Amino acid sequence: MASMPGPTDAFARPLTDLRVSVTDRCNFRCRYCMPREIFGPDHAFLERDELLSFEEITRLVGLFTTLGVHKVRLTGGEPLLRSDLPTLIAGIAGLDRITDLALTTNGTLLPRHAADLAAAGLDRVTVSLDALDDEIHRAISDTRVPVTAVLAGIEAARAAGLPVKVNTVVKRGVNDDEITAMAAWGRREGITVRFIEYMDVGATNGWRLDDVVPAAEVVERLSTLGPLEPIGDGTPGGDVGDVQTGPGQVAERLRWSDGAGEVGVIASVTRPFCRTCSRARLSSVGELFTCLFATSGTDLRGPLRDGATDDEVVTIARDTWTHRTDRYSEERTAETARDDRVEMSYIGG
Ligand code: SAM
Ligand code: SF4
Ligand code: SF4
Repeated sequence: MASMPGPTDAFARPLTDLRVSVTDRCNFRCRYCMPREIFGPDHAFLERDELLSFEEITRLVGLFTTLGVHKVRLTGGEPLLRSDLPTLIAGIAGLDRITDLALTTNGTLLPRHAADLAAAGLDRVTVSLDALDDEIHRAISDTRVPVTAVLAGIEAARAAGLPVKVNTVVKRGVNDDEITAMAAWGRREGITVRFIEYMDVGATNGWRLDDVVPAAEVVERLSTLGPLEPIGDGTPGGDVGDVQTGPGQVAERLRWSDGAGEVGVIASVTRPFCRTCSRARLSSVGELFTCLFATSGTDLRGPLRDGATDDEVVTIARDTWTHRTDRYSEERTAETARDDRVEMSYIGG
């Protein structure tokens, strides 16, 4: 297929990153993502034949690379619940133009799968962990799975040679007292911990602006552990909080001045980064979403299963991106909570 320059959207943003959700199921019921009252025994999860097959995903990712995508992250739901994930990893890793293939996981199944994932060509792993305190962890994830199971997952990934970062969603009054403990642990272990502002994704988590701990406050609390310096692109005028590390980069990166490694904040609410957002999402049923806060996506599975050619599928994806005007986080106010947004476990976090 002839290769054209990658499209840019209505605000001149290119398409470089693709997040692929491989399942809407999860073995956790994090309060902020899949509250048990909604995602309980009666919840209708997707049927197997509704999900894109590995062949379909690999084909689509390959087509997206012709539009500029070179970074791919597999997510969900809990992606490691999808059986035989290394087969998909191998397929995507084998595509030309992929420079970075990552996985976001709650970590619990890494002891079983890390070695196979690494062997298949996965580049790195992000593990979500919101607290080291077992009681707080169990309350947030609403499971009986202990923190030690997540830590064992992190160890397994490192033992398999996979670089690991940890993502911590901070919710006021729930785990903000864990910020320094998590950061101190990251310093000791040589693991970058990134603190994420709690977001109003989906429509079921009852988000309130008051629940958000601003990244600036997180940085203040971190600095009680020792002096921090920004790691940036040298943009003049930036203070610790304003570091940008390149287009499309969402984390503001900081380093401990004593050489003990890195820590980060992701200020999705208080310092939104829509201006450089070059990320699309592919849901597990093959809809293309151009924003985490979208209310609808563009169906690619239908055309795929109806026998569309590569050029036809690429044209749909290109048109969708070209018309993109999303900048939800820049427009967010306490009142914008729309109640028809797609859930994160469905669209892919
Ligand atoms: N199950 C995997 C995991 O937890 O890592 C992958 C999917 S999960 C939806 C991806 C990421 O989204 C996790 O790091 C999770 O903490 C984050 N997340 C979910 N709901 C969120 C919210 N309301 N605000 C901020 N981050 C959220
Ligand atoms: Fe599951 Fe991840 Fe959502 Fe928690 S954040 S419920 S682990 S998908
Ligand atoms: Fe990108 Fe939408 Fe998030 Fe803005 S709100 S950074 S456009 S995903």
